[in-house]
Amino acid sequence: MKYTVISKKLLSEDTFQMQIYAPRIANSALPGQFVIIRMRDKSERIPLTISDHDVETGTITLVVKAIGKSTKTMENYQVGDYFEDIVGPLGRPSEFIHIPEEELRSKKFLFIGGGVGIAPIYPQVKWLQEHGVNADVIIGAKTYSLLVFVEELRQRSGNLYITTDDTTGDMQGLVTDVFRKLVQEDKKQYDEVIAIGPMIMMKFVTKMAMEFGLKITVSLNALMVDGTGMCGACRVRIGGETKFTCVDGPEFDGSLVNFDEAMKRQAMYNTVEGRKELKAEEDAEAHVCHVGGISEEHKDRLHRVLVPEQDPNVRNKNFQEVCLGYSAEDAIEEAHRCLQCKNPQCVSGCPVNINIPAFIKQVAEGNFEEAARIIDRDSALPAVCGRVCPQETQCEGKCVLGRKGDPIAIGKLERFVGDWARENHIEFQKPNHKNGIKVAVIGSGPAGITCAKELLTKGYDVTIFEALHQFGGVLVYGIPSFRLPKETVVRHEIENLRKLGCKFEKNVVVGRTISIDALMEKENFKAIFIGSGAGLPTFMGIEGENLCGVVSANEFLTRNNLLFSYKEEYETPNYVGKNVVVVGGGNVAMDAARTALRLGANVSIVYRRSEEELPARKEEVHHAHEEGIDFQLLTNPTEIIGDENGWVKAIRCVRMQLGEADASGRRKPEVIAGSEFEMPTDMVIMALGTTSNPLIGSTTPGLKINAKKSIIADENGQTTREGIFAGGDAVNGSATVILAMGAGKKAAFAMDEYIQQKLKR
Ligand code: FAD
Repeated sequence: MKYTVISKKLLSEDTFQMQIYAPRIANSALPGQFVIIRMRDKSERIPLTISDHDVETGTITLVVKAIGKSTKTMENYQVGDYFEDIVGPLGRPSEFIHIPEEELRSKKFLFIGGGVGIAPIYPQVKWLQEHGVNADVIIGAKTYSLLVFVEELRQRSGNLYITTDDTTGDMQGLVTDVFRKLVQEDKKQYDEVIAIGPMIMMKFVTKMAMEFGLKITVSLNALMVDGTGMCGACRVRIGGETKFTCVDGPEFDGSLVNFDEAMKRQAMYNTVEGRKELKAEEDAEAHVCHVGGISEEHKDRLHRVLVPEQDPNVRNKNFQEVCLGYSAEDAIEEAHRCLQCKNPQCVSGCPVNINIPAFIKQVAEGNFEEAARIIDRDSALPAVCGRVCPQETQCEGKCVLGRKGDPIAIGKLERFVGDWARENHIEFQKPNHKNGIKVAVIGSGPAGITCAKELLTKGYDVTIFEALHQFGGVLVYGIPSFRLPKETVVRHEIENLRKLGCKFEKNVVVGRTISIDALMEKENFKAIFIGSGAGLPTFMGIEGENLCGVVSANEFLTRNNLLFSYKEEYETPNYVGKNVVVVGGGNVAMDAARTALRLGANVSIVYRRSEEELPARKEEVHHAHEEGIDFQLLTNPTEIIGDENGWVKAIRCVRMQLGEADASGRRKPEVIAGSEFEMPTDMVIMALGTTSNPLIGSTTPGLKINAKKSIIADENGQTTREGIFAGGDAVNGSATVILAMGAGKKAAFAMDEYIQQKLKR
């Protein structure tokens, strides 16, 4: 899909308007919504409000002010040029579209727009006029030539008031001057005021509307980064509660917005520190991993063959993979340790039930291709799982060799086989029949990929819809490349799906771009699998979390992994402190800490339990220690302290001790009285877990979600709506790759059964 520029017009000296071909978005756009645009492969993601849309021509109109590097590049775009990605429509539409028509007609609206904020006002005023309401509009700028949409607004509004700083407008002064005159002198009555423009303008319009006792709505879309609720960069305090502009907004009740804090957050990404290309990577020295504390020669059955790794002091400055993987000889030697149990426990420990002894037997005999074919029957992601699965609690945790020595290195062997198959261009069996029945998969993470693969194998016509511009879910935007290379490993495993006939549509936010019901009713999908993950970051709710320099791990990792902000040639800005504190103890915390370390920071991990309870993979904790991360265990933050400019300067913590086991079976951390202390820091990364994005649940009638916003589904993925299945993190909350894969696989079987039963009726 090419998002081609159909027309372009200069609106003022630095502002232009573009009409772009984007039929799916044009079809669903409503006033108040926005899109995220990416020009080219290395470009940053820019949120822009949809100023107009036309269903018939399949176009949307965007107004862009050329102020930064990216928007200046966009200024050079001509008719016929195209954008790599446009995702949308995003955000909640303006609230008034939900008001019953009769009530709407009795209401008096006043719109106040400044700068490019005037452009998003236009679709709202136009929509109201089409529904019988003539709204009043005040627009302002320094001088008349900077105003946009003047003629369009004149035609669509009740009264248009134009004010400028100089004498070129109908009036001279600020928009608030006109607002005051209309209400106090002209005695105009309004029910609602909607302000869009610079934050400072919205702050003062809000103040005035509150003074007049009027309902005030403001649009905070300038705060957004990724637009899908994934990174948390656009969070803002509304009425004391943290909200995400892209999911909960972009429009909010102005009287509840903390404008000063929002303005500081906006300034944050203009101070780009730590955004430098890392020096050319030195060739990694072979370093031997000692996970499990094994250090002697390992030629015997009890001890595993060690795997080479980059030296910790070399790799902590680069993004190359840490673990270098087994050579063929090492893999064969390790595979020979397998006892080939008659009743293999390792298989039951694997949520996708790979026939582990069978593939290891083939490795031991040097038949790597056959080993790859055995894994392929049950897993779409061998090279991924071999790298990131928590094997110690799954397959390897059940290996009988582990009772007296080291379990078989099942993960490292799986990784070897996956890599070998890729490097040797092994093609896997394609479905030998097609049934022509359309099924949709929402989300291209491990759950969606696995579900799609199973359905393709059964002959279905599968389309994966993905909100982002890359496929792979957390595998591309979350897990860093020093653990999981994107270009080679993840991309290849996605390509394997394409070879099976899978169709892919990126930049489609289901629930916004198109609804589940429209997919079924208008696009004829007979069943749908939702694998939309749990991408919404959570925060602790302590004082100071909205200071500048406090970010979610999702935001920090997305900027670095998906948008490559650490590379000079990429345009996404990033902030990295000198002394970074990461709060949390899971894989996400380890990834954020090790990424910050590679970007030059001194990093401490703060975790409230002890090392034993750290939920991260054992290998990641071991690597983090080796690389020089400081662990402040049995420690819990109570407050983040800011300086006079609203930037974090310290984190206040208490020391903890472990008490009795709680409901999770882990010993409950308790505060040690009087143990409070402060750690100086200029960046805090919150890695406390994630919840599901409520978007699909809230836009699909009858699809029930639980208190944690997860989709309710039974063990086969059946949701509360017929024909709709779900699995992975969207159902379980943040968990693991292999559990998501297991859920995708089970759901595929249930979907097949459902469709076949329906055909018989
Ligand atoms: P995801 O991987 O989250 O994929 C969901 C996809 O759906 C995303 O691409 C998203 O953009 C898309 N989507 C969301 N909403 C919509 C919509 N409305 N329309 C269209 N598309 C949508 N697990 C491990 O086993 N080992 C690890 O080492 C590990 N490390 C991790 C490190 C990090 C930083 C993170 C964040 C997670 C880690 N996990 C790890 C957890 C693991 O990655 C997840 O459990 C797993 O990816 C869940 O898979 P999923 O398919 O359910 O969801």
